Amino acid sequence: MSRDIFQSESQNKRIALVLNSRLQSETVGTEMPRLSVSDNLFSALIQNSTDIITVLNPQGIVLYESPSVQKITGFFPEELVNKNIFEFIHPQDAESVLQSFSALLEYPNQAGHSEFRFLKKTGDWCHLEVVGTNLLNDPQVHGIVINSRDITERKIFQQALAKSEAKFRSLIDNSSDLIFIIAAEGDISFINRPISDAFGYRMRRLSALRMLSLVHHEDIDELTSQWDEMKSGRIDLFRMEVRFKNVNQAWNVYELTCINLLEDLSVQGILVNARDVTQRKNTEEKLKFLALNDPLTSLANRTYFSQCIENQFQRRLREPDYLFSLIFLDLDHFKMVNDGLGHAAGDQLLQQIAKRLTTCVRSLDIVARLGGDEFAILLADVSSIEQVIRVADRIRKVLKTPFVLEGKEVFSSASMGIALSTPETRNPDELLRDADTALYRAKENGRGGYEIFDQEMHLRAVNFLHIETELRKALDANALELYYQPIFALSTGKLKGMEALIRWKHPYQGFIEPDRFIPIAEETGLIESLGWWVFQEACSKLKSWNSLGQDFSDLYVSINLSTRQFKQTALVEKITDALEDYAINPSRLCLEITESVLIQDPEAATEMFSSLRDLGVQLFMDDFGTGYSSLSYLQRFPVDALKIDRSFIRHINEESSRGSMEDMEIVRAIASLAKNLGIHVIAEGIEQQAQLRLLQDMNCDYGQGFLFAKPMEAEQAQNFILANFDMQLT
Ligand code: C2E
Ligand code: CA
Ligand code: CA
Repeated sequence: MSRDIFQSESQNKRIALVLNSRLQSETVGTEMPRLSVSDNLFSALIQNSTDIITVLNPQGIVLYESPSVQKITGFFPEELVNKNIFEFIHPQDAESVLQSFSALLEYPNQAGHSEFRFLKKTGDWCHLEVVGTNLLNDPQVHGIVINSRDITERKIFQQALAKSEAKFRSLIDNSSDLIFIIAAEGDISFINRPISDAFGYRMRRLSALRMLSLVHHEDIDELTSQWDEMKSGRIDLFRMEVRFKNVNQAWNVYELTCINLLEDLSVQGILVNARDVTQRKNTEEKLKFLALNDPLTSLANRTYFSQCIENQFQRRLREPDYLFSLIFLDLDHFKMVNDGLGHAAGDQLLQQIAKRLTTCVRSLDIVARLGGDEFAILLADVSSIEQVIRVADRIRKVLKTPFVLEGKEVFSSASMGIALSTPETRNPDELLRDADTALYRAKENGRGGYEIFDQEMHLRAVNFLHIETELRKALDANALELYYQPIFALSTGKLKGMEALIRWKHPYQGFIEPDRFIPIAEETGLIESLGWWVFQEACSKLKSWNSLGQDFSDLYVSINLSTRQFKQTALVEKITDALEDYAINPSRLCLEITESVLIQDPEAATEMFSSLRDLGVQLFMDDFGTGYSSLSYLQRFPVDALKIDRSFIRHINEESSRGSMEDMEIVRAIASLAKNLGIHVIAEGIEQQAQLRLLQDMNCDYGQGFLFAKPMEAEQAQNFILANFDMQLT
């Protein structure tokens, strides 16, 4: 209320004087007193004032109304004079007005203020703001002088303002965002209600707290520097994610939008709009974790691991002497755990191994699971290869303690390949490849060991890749050939069959031995098409030999099958097709497999084994004695013949050497055992007459070797068959 523009009490008295004379002339009808110049002025003011001047008697009866009453209320002064003023006051306001009026009556010469609604002639209400002065004791007035001002417009405006303020407040309080205003000194000058729900403080307490005491210490620096920027007027707006602590000491992440309204007089602060993004953040974190970690072990995954290696290379760019290292790790016999104890146990083993590996490294190193039973470790900032070896030793040690899987104790070991970043390693791929090469070598050398990548290994790896490409070309260009080596019955000298042995005549490198390229074909999968070609080729030759005459119809061909070929699901189907295509009696086809084929996946092997038996083809166990030589396998997989490995035959004729005695005992034992099981025995690699004789003495059924014939080309083989069908054994 702007009282300053209101008439003061003395002014009222002055007015009263003027009024007095008018009252007397208008209402009482007596003679007009003489007015001074200033009285005339006041008289004019009253007549023209926008305010209403009213004079009441102690009962509230109107003694006088100035003309302006008509402009405001629509009543002419004479319509109000002699009326009780309270008849025109809004019933709801009457009570308080009456109180003010009574107070006024009690204190002569005192002024009182009041606001109320006054009836208009139209029946509407106008709002009046009044100052009343008790001049009952003034002999010239004898009344209460009331000065009224029309404040209807202001009231309407105030009400609208209050309404819009309430609306604004309600909007703010029901907003899902937290809204607060921080004054320049850092105190909170305004907060909306959701803040108290979110932070768990009562509003009053929260307002008193300094804003920053709730902010995470890691976020404070950036936040304050931004605010400083804002206070100095350099920025008007900034956004940032800030962690706030609630009353339970739990942290939530808020996305703040801060707007500089320090210059805005109605705000005078920084308006902060905070949105709780904790859940979104958590989801983001989870997604990020899933994208970069292996779900089973929570270790880094391949993607994350590659990123880390990339970072190491970046660091080496800045620090040329910086060294780091990779360890690739592959579990030995993991498949056995998986097959034997089930996948759940396999998973448990991987998890336990992951935990143990993490204990072997520092916090700056990264342990990853690349897939299956492959793990990898990145050792950052190493000083020497010895340091890496110490880690590898530690890993070997922690893996030695048995694992408990579903109540059972299980032992595990791992082969490891180590590569150290050298100035020559140009990129992450090279380092990964080096570690992989070293791992391959470690596995070759036996279980549970580690190998460190070196240049020689690298050359081998290059050679491997080279052979692979060349072999693909050879396969396409028909540059492979089958040689055949005869197998004889040792007692009669009768030719029984021919073993097909592959040959690769390289246009530049010359003859490449199968031992050099078969493992590569096996690893790259090339063996599948290569093996299929061998089948076709050998079957077509056998067909032509069998048709040489009645004597040759019993001759068989034996084909070497690698592990991967044996696992092919289409194998039986393909053999069936080949047998049909070349009209071959199934018993004339022999398949040579090694024990490793059976050991890797006994379940699948059993199935394949019986399918092949059903087909009627013969099965030979190749290289017997070099592998697991588990005799129990022979019962489970009843083969037609065992081929005793050449390494046992080589020395049996050397007299008085201990090794030779042992070998001879082994061969003798195998031969008699096979006999008991009804299995034939074929001795490989017979080179000397003396060896032949010993084998004949031991009742060894069949034999093969340079003594009889070296592997030969198909055409030569056919001539050999015709010429040497039955060999004279001297
Ligand atoms: P393997 O199945 O043990 O074949 C016998 C190997 O011994 C042949 O070597 C043969 O030439 C050699 N050999 C035979 N008699 C004698 C002898 O009296 N003295 C000596 N020192 N060696 C003898 P080759 O042809 O180099 O084959 C090596 C290996 O390559 C084979 O061992 C076999 O595992 C594999 N292989 C050969 N051809 C094929 C094929 O078509 N498919 C598959 N999967 N593997 C094949
Ligand atoms: Ca063989
Ligand atoms: Ca063999």
